[in-house]
Amino acid sequence: MSSETKPIPHPSVFVDKKRLELIKGYRVHEKRTPAKPLPVTPSQTLGPFFSLGLIREGDDDLAARAVGGPRAEGLPIYVTGRVLDEDGKPVRKALVEVWQANCRGKYEHPDDVTPQPTDPNLKAFGRMLTKDDGSFRFRSIKPGAYPNPGYDNWMRPPHIHFSILCAGVMQRLITQMYFPGEPLNDIDPILNGVEDLEARALLVAKELGRNEQGETGYEFNIVLRGKAETPFMLDH
Ligand code: FE
Repeated sequence: MSSETKPIPHPSVFVDKKRLELIKGYRVHEKRTPAKPLPVTPSQTLGPFFSLGLIREGDDDLAARAVGGPRAEGLPIYVTGRVLDEDGKPVRKALVEVWQANCRGKYEHPDDVTPQPTDPNLKAFGRMLTKDDGSFRFRSIKPGAYPNPGYDNWMRPPHIHFSILCAGVMQRLITQMYFPGEPLNDIDPILNGVEDLEARALLVAKELGRNEQGETGYEFNIVLRGKAETPFMLDH
């Protein structure tokens, strides 16, 4: 290390959870129960016809707005993985929803006021049901890093947001998938907010190499519970 190079402080030194709470959308905890009891809506069966209309053709391809339409800018990728329970058994028909920024780190959302352009061809949102072996797969482009305004403009590493809903889970589980070998991973307060190193490593996908379509593959498994549980974050 040269004399001018300052060592990067360990994330736990600079992660200030109180300040993190000030950022819109990144509250780390909140009161989740009403002040007084409310009458409970009775539950009823879901019925067999829910999922068909919920998943449409092309929902597993974030890199095109329409099936067969022009592709979004950026490194083509696919992400595959399995949703597993604590015993490693596959969870079938789990609803996996994903969303991400474009290759320049821009979300197509009114709250994203960064100056980067949006990509007219990027759908950026996807939705899949896991198969009988618990697997899911979607196509996309690698998202870019982006500054987080309001908190020292720290650069968030490339990541894909995940939401998982399945039988027996009363509230959706949310987490983020990171890409291996990204220097920003080492200094991201949200990723490094997972203090257990082994658990933190579970959030970094494994690179699988390139397929015949020229897409770089990533494996990201989601474990709902137990020792190898994927770190989940609070919903907001
Ligand atoms: Fe994000």
